[in-house]
Amino acid sequence: MRRKDFLISLAAMPLISLSMKIDTLSQLTKNLDETEQMPLLFLGHGSPMNAIEENEFVEGFRNISLQISKPKAIVCISAHWQTSGTWVTAMPKPETIHDFGGFPKALFEVQYPAVGNPELALELKSKMKQTSVELDYKWGLDHGTWSVVKHLYPNADVPVIQLSLDYNLSPEAHYKLAKELMEFRNKGILIVGSGNIVHNLRLIAWDKPLTDEFGYDWAIEANQKTKDLILDNNHQALINFNKLGKAFELAIPTAEHFLPLLYILSLKHENEAVRFFNDKNLGGSLSMTSLIVK
Ligand code: ZN
Repeated sequence: MRRKDFLISLAAMPLISLSMKIDTLSQLTKNLDETEQMPLLFLGHGSPMNAIEENEFVEGFRNISLQISKPKAIVCISAHWQTSGTWVTAMPKPETIHDFGGFPKALFEVQYPAVGNPELALELKSKMKQTSVELDYKWGLDHGTWSVVKHLYPNADVPVIQLSLDYNLSPEAHYKLAKELMEFRNKGILIVGSGNIVHNLRLIAWDKPLTDEFGYDWAIEANQKTKDLILDNNHQALINFNKLGKAFELAIPTAEHFLPLLYILSLKHENEAVRFFNDKNLGGSLSMTSLIVK
């Protein structure tokens, strides 16, 4: 429902229900007061095992959270939620989804009990005009979100909602609709893209420990070129990643892990600084490269 329709529907409500709705609305407005501009994060999530392992990447996630004022809520765009149409999670208590197979029991036992934020979901739906955003009550938090956000906020004390990736849209369309999230940066909302710049699981070098730094030439090239283009603010070249040649063809065989990066770049102002962290190639065909914009 758009804000205007919402206000019109208020007018049609009985008095008691109306006063409750007004409370909710004023609470919402209060919750979304103007704040200083929040940074942006793109997190290379890599293996789901990062959720329970102690390693340099986990440490990188923890360190980065120390450089960010505690957000009122997180909106996460995860590579692992692709849908027809754009959806936003709107349940008060999102489930921890274990959307993978073949991992140890300990990973399936992880719960990340962050609450949702239905009011924020509604506000986001009302602000996005490029596409119709639908409210979702079935998804929850997938591992693209909880395996990394749990290191940022281990006490699960920041509400988290997810925005899905519409698989019908072009990279250009994703980049455009992401712009409509801009105002949330000034309302204490931390926007996180969770994916990987280089992500080709078919070509993983299984003969090498996934913890060792190792990248095929093309993986190193695509990772480096992506960083250079980000620093040049050449987003158009990154939107057209499928025209960047062989290295990118191999690094981005499917778009879903790369698209969350386009959301973050779309929300970056030209004069804002980017700092890379966890910038390593692993397993030949994966990069953990993450960034903060602030
Ligand atoms: Zn993934």
